[in-house]
Amino acid sequence: MKKPQISSRNSLKTMHKNIYLSLGSNVGSRKTNLLKTLSLISGASEVLKVSPIYQTDPIGFEKQAKFLNMTCLVFTSYEPHDFLKKLKDIEKSIGRQKSFRNGPRLIDIDIIFWDNDVINTKALTVPHPKAAQREFVLRPLARIAPSFVHPILNKTVASLLKSLEPQGVRYFTKAPPIKDIIGIKQKRMEKAP
Ligand code: AMP
Repeated sequence: MKKPQISSRNSLKTMHKNIYLSLGSNVGSRKTNLLKTLSLISGASEVLKVSPIYQTDPIGFEKQAKFLNMTCLVFTSYEPHDFLKKLKDIEKSIGRQKSFRNGPRLIDIDIIFWDNDVINTKALTVPHPKAAQREFVLRPLARIAPSFVHPILNKTVASLLKSLEPQGVRYFTKAPPIKDIIGIKQKRMEKAP
């Protein structure tokens, strides 16, 4: 079997890495879906920052409900493909079922940046290839990482966002504090002797 190709500026092995994720939902209780997902991610890795939540007009297939989108910064020691697998398991546990391209979804989690690494395998492309053109990714991302430099385009998130035409992305609400999002885990820790 052909080995997957991974090219990277830094080593991808067992180091802790800063990962930026984009989350979206347009089915059911959209905000609850996002927060539940963050809580599950925090069970697997450390969630360091969360953006506010934005409401977004659907792209591609327009006859569907508006999305809620947000981004977060996660610190993880997972290898990228293992982390992707973890995220796909989380999507399933939230209840995501197969949909069509750009179709409605209970939850979608995309890996936008993996530190400054560039990853090109069959399963995973990082930086996410469409991130730089999507306001629903860049606008929330600019709230937590405006100065982060796209490792291929060599432009900051803030400047990439500035160069986009409006795509129907509006502020919806702030996210609860991280300690409330991961509340259950925190409460257990507080109870420990
Ligand atoms: P989606 O429809 O967004 O859940 O993505 C479908 C597939 O995209 C997944 O099964 C992944 O293998 C693949 N994929 C490639 N690059 C990425 C990325 N950066 N983040 C998330 N999924 C990705």
